[in-house]
Amino acid sequence: MKRFDCLGKIAKAASDALVVTSAGAVTLEWNALRPSDGNFRVRTLGLCSSIALGMALGLPQRKVIALDGDGSLLMNLCSLPTMARMEPKNLVHIVFDNEVYEASGSKQTATATGTDLVGIARAAGIRQALWTHSVDEFAGVAMEALNGHELFFIGAKVTTERTEVPPYPMDEVENKYRFIRHVEKTEKIAILKTNLPSSYT
Ligand SMILES: [Mg+2]
Repeated sequence: MKRFDCLGKIAKAASDALVVTSAGAVTLEWNALRPSDGNFRVRTLGLCSSIALGMALGLPQRKVIALDGDGSLLMNLCSLPTMARMEPKNLVHIVFDNEVYEASGSKQTATATGTDLVGIARAAGIRQALWTHSVDEFAGVAMEALNGHELFFIGAKVTTERTEVPPYPMDEVENKYRFIRHVEKTEKIAILKTNLPSSYT
């Protein structure tokens, strides 16, 4: 199973969902398929799940998708019990497990030797946690999750094959501001406020 093919199956259905992507090529591939200021790239390995969780809790009416990787989630397994405990019904956590740290030289992760991330998610208390074994099966489960109102954790074993796509068009600082302004505009809320210098007050 190829990650790009899985992403292609959900790009349209993602609609206006806020999408948090883990460090690595998944960010570029997703942005090529669904370019949007509603895409947020995470540069720090491990934080994808926690940032998406915070976002889903803060905006309970908005669908939030985390596109995570095995290396990233292994570095932040403690996000899973918190996710299960808070149970945001608008969060879909997808983990593409290629069994390597792709962005840093493809060294094997623990999933290559048997660690089962879906098993860990289930044991953490996430009820809808399941592996998908084909692109079509992935598409079916992902559609159910995107159209439903329930916390989902979806695992997909994928190859290490990368798809040739354009580079990400901005650095993380510009991405952050554009993302926040996108949320402000689409949710009609104010997030960033700039105080005047104290000499004006
Ligand atoms: Mg990986």
